[in-house]
Amino acid sequence: MRLVLIGIQGAGKSTQGNYLSEKYQIPYLSSGHIFREMAKEKTDLGRWLKETMNSGALIPDDTTLEIVLTYLEKPEYSNGYILDGFPRTLAQAEAFNGGVDKVILLEVSDKEALWRIAGRMSDREDETLQAIRKRIELFHEVTKPVVHYYEEQGKLIRIDGEQSVEQVSADIVTALDEFLRDKAAAN
Ligand code: AMP
Repeated sequence: MRLVLIGIQGAGKSTQGNYLSEKYQIPYLSSGHIFREMAKEKTDLGRWLKETMNSGALIPDDTTLEIVLTYLEKPEYSNGYILDGFPRTLAQAEAFNGGVDKVILLEVSDKEALWRIAGRMSDREDETLQAIRKRIELFHEVTKPVVHYYEEQGKLIRIDGEQSVEQVSADIVTALDEFLRDKAAAN
């Protein structure tokens, strides 16, 4: 099963992604994590990634596609994956066409997300209020078209992300089990 999690920062993507990874035995991969690891390298690329991420801006599509698609060629992702943070722009989604079975949109208001982020401890250098605001702004601007793109393909699962963690997980599992049943019946 090839899944994509979409939602603003603080929507619960990594919590739910890790839960689903365990439940369905599919690897979880966060593009932000890949970039944060690369940003630790003391190279020009590492420094540039760090600067870009700390500002809350996105890494350009060509670089993102090259890095994430190369990563996904690893054998552990050959039977599926749960992606968090990618695709994030329409250009990325179009280039990744064919790589997605279902997309889970965790819907949380900006206000709720900011509350959640403010209430959790972070040692991440890119989690300044300014960077978080920028990321939320970019979500509305460039990631919403990705949501519409998958909705038109009938791949979107909308989940109320403001419920308890357990209820959000349960709602996702109900939708995914239905998808898996339909898929098995069609084969
Ligand atoms: P995240 O952990 O998903 O919030 O990502 C942290 C940062 O990594 C973002 O602010 C971007 O700079 C970069 N990033 C992660 N995924 C992508 C992506 N799909 N496209 C562009 N930039 C990304």
